[in-house]
Amino acid sequence: MKSVHPIKSVMPNLSEYDALYSGFEWNEERIHLDGLPSGKGLNIAHEAVDRHAESDLKNTIALRFINTERSTVDFSYSELRKQTSKFANVLEKIGIGKGETVFTLLGRVPELYVSGLGALKYRAVFCPLFSVFGPEPIFQRLSRGDARVLVTNTAFFEKKIKSQLERLPSLRYILLTDSQEHLADNVLSFSKAMEEASTDWVIGPTDPEDPALLHFTSGTTGMPKGALHVHQAVLTHYSTGKYVLDFHKGDIFWCTADPGWVTGTSYGIIAPLVNGVTSIIDEEEFDAMRWYSILEEQKVNVWYTAPTAIRRLMRMDICPKEAYQLDKLRLILSVGEPLHAEAVIWGEKNFGFPILDNWWQTETGGIMIANYRSMKVKPGSMGKPLPGVEAAIAEIKDNELTLLTNPGDQGHLVLKKGFPSLFRGYLHDAERFQKCFVGDWYITGDLAKMDEDGYFWFIGRADDIIKTSGHMVGPFEVESTLMRHPSIAEAAVIGKPEPSIGELVKAFVVLKSGTEAGEEMRRNIMGYARKEMGPAVAPKEIEFVESIPKTRSGKILRRLLKARELGLPEGDTSTLE
Ligand code: AMP
Repeated sequence: MKSVHPIKSVMPNLSEYDALYSGFEWNEERIHLDGLPSGKGLNIAHEAVDRHAESDLKNTIALRFINTERSTVDFSYSELRKQTSKFANVLEKIGIGKGETVFTLLGRVPELYVSGLGALKYRAVFCPLFSVFGPEPIFQRLSRGDARVLVTNTAFFEKKIKSQLERLPSLRYILLTDSQEHLADNVLSFSKAMEEASTDWVIGPTDPEDPALLHFTSGTTGMPKGALHVHQAVLTHYSTGKYVLDFHKGDIFWCTADPGWVTGTSYGIIAPLVNGVTSIIDEEEFDAMRWYSILEEQKVNVWYTAPTAIRRLMRMDICPKEAYQLDKLRLILSVGEPLHAEAVIWGEKNFGFPILDNWWQTETGGIMIANYRSMKVKPGSMGKPLPGVEAAIAEIKDNELTLLTNPGDQGHLVLKKGFPSLFRGYLHDAERFQKCFVGDWYITGDLAKMDEDGYFWFIGRADDIIKTSGHMVGPFEVESTLMRHPSIAEAAVIGKPEPSIGELVKAFVVLKSGTEAGEEMRRNIMGYARKEMGPAVAPKEIEFVESIPKTRSGKILRRLLKARELGLPEGDTSTLE
């Protein structure tokens, strides 16, 4: 008998969007979380780990690590509870205070996850850094983030930290994951400290508003900012896990993001654990064959990745559903930058279901706008707001906000305050934080439009918008059209100052392999662009390049392209891939 494809046999948790959206109350959602057994508050680590360690999930695998050589290490919920309690005891022993910050500078290894969840148990603030950062961006973040503890390894310590210690007077302890012995009073062996620590820990009273997570934004538009999140954010993690990632008991989930980017923490650590499923964590970076074979071997049910990876898979000559046994996979989701309509459709053809795009940002702490399994997908749209989140399009002038309600109106994407995971501040920058709000609305910094069915469509970062001959052009729309040209692999578009028209649209183009750059190709692309977009929007300049600068989370660094074009300082490039 032919087996039923899992996408059909597993009913979505969110079956009717409109009904759930109109009746949704965060207070009612809160019932699905435990709260601390003492009755004193809400703590992310309790919801993610401890409560499951005492339930029938205790022996379920919480985290499965795959290392470079492909061997695996598993942590059940019960084991994860013990390890994270040990780490909380280590923090107590070395005298760290509640609310102080614990940083990690590690690859995707177990110590990162144990430290992060252990810090949350201790009620310290957790801040994971990308391990590929060089010494200066690390210093900037440790110093701006008031780091008290750093968990790292000997090589990173020697190369990136040691010479900076004098500049970091408040950094009290370094814990080295690969040293068997304590090296100095303030440079300790992680394993030795853990060995001596007890596996018992009672989480102290945690106010839902207590700070929990610090994330420096990817800095696509300037200097990195430290966005602070509170324990209450766990409600968004839970809810988005249930309704967007559609977690079901027994699911195996893989989020490919590194915890150094907010996605790798909210969805690579917290959301799957809060929902009691099994998370796969791969130590390695993107590799198409490795990734497809992990999906197959680990029998992944739900996969959360980014457009940059999807585009790389699309460029390969492989139909995954024919080349690999992916019959357990029922859902693929994407975040980080626009998912082009072609990618959604490619998913449908090559996996048997569309890839679901969703939108959020460091400041929102969790998914805000999404496509849901049960809802019709309009390829190229980010979908509809999460139940419990009010999103709108607005015009902002002189600090006055006017909601634009006609379908198709373009404006600022704004979110009504009041959802649990909205950031509570930029560390040490109250002014910048205040500038993000007008009345009850949080200004996301993105421009978008809403169609007649309530679907949101991304236009661009407000800072990236090009003003040319009286038109407002979003680089994304130009890039999307260029990408449909048969010879173009990738494109990035900026506005270049040009006195007569304000800015001209300039495109940087990576051609597909085997295609020749030159005057003929330039004319061909220009002709195609004018025909598709009209002369006002089509690029007036095209430059062929080998690659497009992107952040490690896959976002095009248009700011950098523009600075290079104009010979200006490049600004913060620490997140450059
Ligand atoms: P970050 O805070 O680094 O995660 O960056 C957030 C920004 O990435 C958003 O404000 C958007 O500009 C962009 N972004 C994230 N997801 C999407 C998406 N699905 N479509 C379009 N842009 C996105």
